Amino acid sequence: MKVTVFGIGYVGLVQAAILAEVGHNVICVDVDEGKVERLKQGQIPIYEPGLEPLVKENHAAGRLNFTTNAIEGVNHGEVQFIAVGTPPDEDGSADLKYVLAVASTIAQHMDRHQIVVDKSTVPVGTGDKVQAQIAKILAERGRSDLTFNVVSNPEFLKEGSAVADCMKPDRIVIGTDSQHAEEVMRELYAPFNRNHEKIIVMDVRSAELTKYAANCMLATKISFMNEMANLAEILGADIEAVRHGIGSDPRIGYHFIYPGVGYGGSCFPKDVQALIRTADHINFDAKVLKAVEARNNEQKTTLFAKINKHFNGNLKGKTFALWGLSFKPNTDDMREAPSRVLMEALWEAGAKVQAYDPEAMHETQRIYGNREDILLCGTKESALKHADALVIVTEWQAFRAPDFDVIKELLSEATIFDGRNMYDPKRMQKRGFTYYSVGRSS
Ligand code: NAD
Repeated sequence: MKVTVFGIGYVGLVQAAILAEVGHNVICVDVDEGKVERLKQGQIPIYEPGLEPLVKENHAAGRLNFTTNAIEGVNHGEVQFIAVGTPPDEDGSADLKYVLAVASTIAQHMDRHQIVVDKSTVPVGTGDKVQAQIAKILAERGRSDLTFNVVSNPEFLKEGSAVADCMKPDRIVIGTDSQHAEEVMRELYAPFNRNHEKIIVMDVRSAELTKYAANCMLATKISFMNEMANLAEILGADIEAVRHGIGSDPRIGYHFIYPGVGYGGSCFPKDVQALIRTADHINFDAKVLKAVEARNNEQKTTLFAKINKHFNGNLKGKTFALWGLSFKPNTDDMREAPSRVLMEALWEAGAKVQAYDPEAMHETQRIYGNREDILLCGTKESALKHADALVIVTEWQAFRAPDFDVIKELLSEATIFDGRNMYDPKRMQKRGFTYYSVGRSS
């Protein structure tokens, strides 16, 4: 099938690549000329495991192309995906300007039936807005004879395993009340729906809410565990024992119950906030979601509080080695990353940071490169040199079994603040470290 994808970000590029991989012919349209040019030359703008060969091979095979020319895009696809950003606007609601801009572009140039698929995460009711926008422009063009369907097809990929998630999805949610659109979407996704039925068809509003409900449920699990961890710390319990104790109950499960320094990224914070705003607009008090958000904002400050307490509130002139900058492992994405809240608090207190991350160094350089109180380090060891303590913010595999003798030798003081419970406190004590973690006595 011929497919057009508007927006070549994490979602659009991965979606386009996996569709091309199974044989569809895909054109990606983006307004960012630099990004389109780089992609044409085989340079992948984001780090995502397995994405580079997929993009390069399918581009070389002619099934995956990139353009800034929206008309070319509209003319190409029988299915038009909208996969542009929906960032928070001033009050935290999802800003729909990019989504509606693409809807307008499609309406301005379409000259046959189109299936417009919203893949961006959008508030309930956006499908109706897209529908109205396209109908309005078609009327202005005197082309109200043209028919179209607006479908909601939210994306559930996880950054860091996006390609695998899309090649083998848990579920494919399709929101539509049109039998024709459903059939076309089923055909499009048939290669991904072979082992067992993964396609779940529902109405557009339910599909839109499904995406928010999924992210808010996951964010709730994290905030709940962080609350338990904070309690465990005060009560003298070990949250890791508690985690095993509750995870064995299949109704709870082991997934997503790791305590830490709060969730970040481009989705959970903004989606929880956007659903709270959606509720506000209809005078519904989303009590659970507000608590989830509040706990998370506070959790991002807990590691700093431990550091500050350890150094008796005197952080001026201190240097901290920081391992892990991306908001989670296997990505270079630093949007809303807990590392940023921590670094900014350390700088505010007059401390310096020597930072290392396996993939997010260029992103750190882009965001903080002009500061004097950050040293960007090429290896995790070089970040340790003469630092007053090591702080671990992101649980990259490469940090799981470091050489603790080297750490001890390079740090000025054998102290580790571990925001991800990477190590065993008793072993750390034996190794001679002062070791702080989350939800366990130090
Ligand atoms: P992104 O910011 O990485 O990419 C968005 C792209 O859209 C950019 O390249 C931008 O230049 C382009 N764009 C903006 N306006 C355009 C226009 N008019 N025409 C063509 N291109 C345009 O965003 P993302 O992370 O891929 O997220 C996209 C959507 O998917 C969001 O709604 C997000 O909430 C949702 N989502 C994201 C993830 C994730 O893990 N990143 C997962 C599921 C859903």
